[in-house]
Amino acid sequence: MEKFSEMETVLDILKQTKKDNCGKCGYPTCMAFAAAVHTGACPKSSCPFVEADEEGLPAAMHDPETALAMELKGKVRNVDLEKRAMGLGGRVVATGSGMALRLRYLGRDVFISPDRVFAEDGSELETRDQILLYNYLFFGGKGRLSGEWTGLESFPNSISKVTTLRRYTEEKIARCFAGKPIQFLKRCKEFGGREVEGCHADACVTVFVLPKVPIRLNFWDEDREDGLPPEVKALFDRRALDFLDIESLIFAAERLSETITME
Ligand code: SF4
Repeated sequence: MEKFSEMETVLDILKQTKKDNCGKCGYPTCMAFAAAVHTGACPKSSCPFVEADEEGLPAAMHDPETALAMELKGKVRNVDLEKRAMGLGGRVVATGSGMALRLRYLGRDVFISPDRVFAEDGSELETRDQILLYNYLFFGGKGRLSGEWTGLESFPNSISKVTTLRRYTEEKIARCFAGKPIQFLKRCKEFGGREVEGCHADACVTVFVLPKVPIRLNFWDEDREDGLPPEVKALFDRRALDFLDIESLIFAAERLSETITME
């Protein structure tokens, strides 16, 4: 986080914005944004229009992920955190930079405020994580989990996504933990995973990527004698699309895979 700017006045910062109070930075006006930057409460990069390049395009807009995060930030700017907290399994807390929704994300506490998404130590989360969390807030938790599990293929318009899930989540986990089902369970438990007893797989665990986004992983170990490779099947709650769109759901599974397979 930038500290109090001695070089630039509020007016200097204001001049660099688009000055149309579009709200994409999470503030209602450009003046409020400039004042927040000046005191160090908000990074200047939160406005996609500052530091425009020679073509007049905002620097941040060259990166599609940053542009999407900005757009989502604008969409959740006026969301009532108190009203959404329960449906999303979080709670609203006071932080140094205002009120924020606190919730568990892959086994750790994170904070979503109208300005930023950050970890307990104050560091901003990666842009891709911000997109997922802003989306989760935007969806607002439209109901209750069903407690029934289903494969991605049972969701509408998911045919092309099934391959992505297999390649970047299921096969990745299977390869990493081949011959190591105990380590698979141990690693999942480090991120809040709960072992499922009586499952037909060699190891089965449910991990809550977000409070209302559980993913169940069934793991079948390799069988070298019979030449069978290891296999993983990811399952989702039947009501998962009440909490995230399908792309975000796949991304949640990818983040889970990256986290548990990380050295
Ligand atoms: S993003 Fe914020 S500071 Fe930038 S132009 Fe829009 S309202 Fe103004």
